[in-house]
Amino acid sequence: MWWIVFLGTFVWMEWAAWFLHKYVMHGFLWILHKDHHQRVKGRVFEWNDFFAVFFAVPSFLCILFDSIYNWPLLGAFGFGIMAYGFVYFLVHEVIIHRRIKSLKFSSNWYSKGVNAAHKVHHSVLEKEGAENFGMLVVPLKYFRLKSSKS
Ligand SMILES: [Zn+2]
Ligand SMILES: [Zn+2]
Repeated sequence: MWWIVFLGTFVWMEWAAWFLHKYVMHGFLWILHKDHHQRVKGRVFEWNDFFAVFFAVPSFLCILFDSIYNWPLLGAFGFGIMAYGFVYFLVHEVIIHRRIKSLKFSSNWYSKGVNAAHKVHHSVLEKEGAENFGMLVVPLKYFRLKSSKS
């Protein structure tokens, strides 16, 4: 059961991140997401990074309550959020936006696909009109591109 909750949370988080991105970040919290679309050169942190904290807090609390009261399924939920956050960070900050210059990855069909889809998301600099709000799951057409323009 632990693994079902853990993996279910991971999958659900992709949906939650998509929903948050489409309806909240490109909605009433655009003010925090804006600097991820209109980047200021040379700045290390973005207001957009606040959303990592937004997910880290409930994840931390679930794991904390599990360790105090021994509620393993709540812990599984917390670890699911944490695992998704880690993969999201790896794919979005490290592989796509290359924010950690010393970490380099050779590209493969998957990274090329998500990269192409996310670059299309960034081609719109404004709140309205963007597409591809998902991160790990993107439309299949991006995996069929022979070469991705980045
Ligand atoms: Zn966006
Ligand atoms: Zn981005």
